[in-house]
Amino acid sequence: MTDMLLEKSQELPATGRLAELADQCVQCGLCLPVCPTYALDGNEAESPRGRIAIAAALARGQVEAGPALRLHLDHCLGCLNCEAVCPADVRYAELLVETRSLLGPAPRRPQHLLSLAKRPARMRALRRIAGWLGLPRWKNRLARRLPPASPWRAALLSLPATAPAAPVQTSRPRVENAPLALFPGCIASIDDAEAQRAAVTLLEAAGFQVSVLPAFCCGALDLHGGAIAAATHAADQVRQVWQASGATQLLSVTPGCVGTLRRALPGVRVSDPVELLAAHVEVLRFRPLARRVAVHLPCTQINVTRSDAALLRLLGHIPELQLSVLPRPPHCCGAAGSHLLEYPERAARLRDQTLQQVASLKTSVLLSSNIGCRLHLAAGLGELSLECAHQHPLTLLAQQLEPPH
Ligand code: SF4
Ligand code: SF4
Repeated sequence: MTDMLLEKSQELPATGRLAELADQCVQCGLCLPVCPTYALDGNEAESPRGRIAIAAALARGQVEAGPALRLHLDHCLGCLNCEAVCPADVRYAELLVETRSLLGPAPRRPQHLLSLAKRPARMRALRRIAGWLGLPRWKNRLARRLPPASPWRAALLSLPATAPAAPVQTSRPRVENAPLALFPGCIASIDDAEAQRAAVTLLEAAGFQVSVLPAFCCGALDLHGGAIAAATHAADQVRQVWQASGATQLLSVTPGCVGTLRRALPGVRVSDPVELLAAHVEVLRFRPLARRVAVHLPCTQINVTRSDAALLRLLGHIPELQLSVLPRPPHCCGAAGSHLLEYPERAARLRDQTLQQVASLKTSVLLSSNIGCRLHLAAGLGELSLECAHQHPLTLLAQQLEPPH
């Protein structure tokens, strides 16, 4: 069935936005070498070109979305490596959202786990209770009793061993009408609270005023899983808090959230703070650090925020720090929003090559800006018993910041 769809029909006219987007594809295949799922399976239906052909057939009503067909679409990581290299400017991100809207929520979507992940206050309280009960010490043993495809197994393996840091705050309790607003997110507001505090410290040191918005999910987890109604609700909430903030620019230390925030706030500048910091680095002074660190650049940092070059420039201002940027391929570590929970075995296979690279560098620290990637990679390092701490790059930058005189 799938093989029949991998050539787009030239006969039926395109109708609707999805067909219009799919028709931009000229089927040149230049995106295939950068697609991680094509590299994993070597199957055209697991490539961008194959998925676009499937989307075109769905849009034209040529096929029913049966389980085998939609699996190829659900496997897509949304890494957007394909969009970045496409000579025909196919808007793959939009096409993926339109296709997932048409299909509805993915069958492998772990509803209970995701609804917990999207409620940071409840999650933080549960993590505290789990810490009192000593869960971080025995979580791996518990996880290995669960089936390899269980999302709870993947969640337990990715659970950090340390207690979450306190939520981010600015140096003053309330900053009215600050030009910059920081969006904390859901999981990131717990497991990247340190990085968010680092962002505020660095931005304030560079002379900016920042306010912090309430913590909730931007809708990225829902968009990834085709839960469009929930994603629309999250986007409404984003617009409400944004309008109340009075800010002119929105920041997120999590590149994986930026695309969804931009979708919710058309016309608003939503970016990674490293861009602002790199542009104002002359006012920041860093202490030397004689160490080699591995730098993982998440797909969303390269393809969505496009802040990878700014990040490397900024890190280059820490005297004596040696950076080893992990090479590509592999083109994605497999975390990809909720993908690591929906398809943990595939996510682990996608991660292997990145872990081998980290192991070969023999560094003691791995930097990555995306919390999902970092937790997924850290779980893999733990399984391989590799001693390597992980940090958001902003945390390292704030640690090395010279205090103002
Ligand atoms: S590179 Fe663009 S035009 Fe070529 S096959 Fe891929 S999506 Fe289609
Ligand atoms: S978004 Fe990533 S995984 Fe999906 S088709 Fe494009 S390159 Fe492949």
